[in-house]
Amino acid sequence: MSKTALITGASQGIGAAIAVRLARAGFHIAVNCYNQQLADTDGAAVAEQCRAFGVEAKCYVADVSKFDQCQEMVKAVAADFGSLDVLVNNAGITRDGLLPRMSEEQFDAVIAVNLKSVFNMMHHASGVMIRQKSGRIINVSSVSGLYGNAGQANYAASKAGVVGLTKTAAKELGGRNITVNAVAPGFIRTQMTDALPDKVKDVMLGQISLKRFGEPEDVANAVAFLASDDAAYISGQVLEIDGCIAM
Ligand code: NAD
Repeated sequence: MSKTALITGASQGIGAAIAVRLARAGFHIAVNCYNQQLADTDGAAVAEQCRAFGVEAKCYVADVSKFDQCQEMVKAVAADFGSLDVLVNNAGITRDGLLPRMSEEQFDAVIAVNLKSVFNMMHHASGVMIRQKSGRIINVSSVSGLYGNAGQANYAASKAGVVGLTKTAAKELGGRNITVNAVAPGFIRTQMTDALPDKVKDVMLGQISLKRFGEPEDVANAVAFLASDDAAYISGQVLEIDGCIAM
């Protein structure tokens, strides 16, 4: 296979697991890193893990909240690998706080990285995919965006926005043989959730039917399915990966 997948925010956590899983499936991998330092350290290690599966892998530095940087990255990936077949919009941040105390900066930062980035990347990548007459886009939303979550007004709004973007892009791009889907993880063990207080973790665990937190690989396996030929007729869907959580 000579198909290429670009994963945003792939230097750690869920993004890194997706990169390695798609490499295992035979995709060449473009590892997006937020800055050069991450590209030289964690990102380089992820690319190395990908190459162990016999595929090509390279890091690309871009702040995906910036429209122009996304354009440069998409151009570079398409030029280096000859195609861009799968785009996974995974980069994300949290700036939690209760609504009355949440600052404008907290709100704007999360919307820029979690939502605007998905527009930026789909805008630029869809041009390449339309010319190729094929493509797969998988956006990482969250159960917070589907059900809401106290302390995460900014995050839930951004992730609900990702669902709206996903369903709209699926309708617009379907005729061009491009599928667009979202995954909505529940509580997955990464640095993002490690930062939460134990009390919050205990409450979350009590709400999960499968009685365990998810692993990054649980999300990566679902993304690999949506990127595979087996998912060719699935578009506009939101797949919850949450161990059956009650929020
Ligand atoms: P993480 O903090 O471990 O990783 C986030 C990644 O995004 C990092 O590599 C970071 O460098 C990158 N990033 C941040 N800002 C960026 C920017 N402006 N440009 C490019 N890259 C940037 O978090 P994670 O848990 O692996 O989260 C990955 C995705 O999954 C996020 O979108 C997150 O919202 C979503 N998610 C996570 C969970 C969970 O429980 N961990 C649940 C639901 C959804």
